[in-house]
Amino acid sequence: MQESLLHRRIDLHFHSVHSDGVLTPVELIALAKENNLEMLALTDHDTLNGLEEARKVALENNIKLINGVEISVQWEGIPLHVVALNFAQGNSVLHDIVTGNQQIRQERGKQIALLLQKRNLPDLYDKVLEEAGPSQIGRPHFAKVLVNEGIVKNMNKAFDQYLSNKHMGKLKSIWPDMDQVIPALAETNCEIILAHPRRYPMTLTKLKRVIEAFVEMGGNGMEVASGNEKPQDVRLLENLAVEFDLNASVGSDFHGPTSSWSQLGKYTSIDELKVKPIWHKWL
Ligand code: AMP
Ligand code: MN
Ligand code: MN
Ligand code: MN
Repeated sequence: MQESLLHRRIDLHFHSVHSDGVLTPVELIALAKENNLEMLALTDHDTLNGLEEARKVALENNIKLINGVEISVQWEGIPLHVVALNFAQGNSVLHDIVTGNQQIRQERGKQIALLLQKRNLPDLYDKVLEEAGPSQIGRPHFAKVLVNEGIVKNMNKAFDQYLSNKHMGKLKSIWPDMDQVIPALAETNCEIILAHPRRYPMTLTKLKRVIEAFVEMGGNGMEVASGNEKPQDVRLLENLAVEFDLNASVGSDFHGPTSSWSQLGKYTSIDELKVKPIWHKWL
């Protein structure tokens, strides 16, 4: 009981309007307060833009905020996500990485629009730009427009039919290689976490190869519970964290109240006595 109470007060992975989330950082902190959370890391895709706003409100609400970001990378052509935590505000390595990825996102946006046109859809680029506004443009903005235009019924169908990795072709491997990103980050002494390892479409054998490479490059943690992951997957990830001597992180991967399965601060309980919880450094 005590353990589950403990970890439920922490969420080290979620998104705001600065990437593909629905709520502003201020709204997220208010929600975190409502949910009695005590420690948070806002981890928008490839942007640090929400952090200052979040920091200010977190401080006012007596919530500990750890700097965070979710970085898009690839390994052997497979797109993966890496969460960086607890970096210094002015970390120039991190700024350079996200700036590079933001340029990739802009170019990729144009390419995705062309890809959809080849599938006999109208040119949606301007509508997607409008949908994204100042946020980092991503596939969810395309999905939203596909729904708004009545081309598909919902976001899931948009991914299934048009936007999932299997539809992306060469655009799948447009991101910087993990070995360009992780060793550089490791130099800056931030925490480098492999995000939601069970969500990549690969066998356990291949996942272990990813983790080996990740550790070799300087990665030092992995998410053992993410969003609505099943207990059996969380048990597996706890074992992998122990096997590879990685710190354990947790997060809801909350994108907004519109998703029925996801809530801020909610994820499967982990065994805090078995793994090395990363947040113990910050309690
Ligand atoms: P991107 O960052 O542009 O590669 O888009 C990836 C994002 O799309 C993920 O972070 C999720 O938020 C979202 N996503 C991925 N798959 C799905 C899906 N099947 N349904 C809804 N959203 C998804
Ligand atoms: Mn997302
Ligand atoms: Mn992710
Ligand atoms: Mn995420």
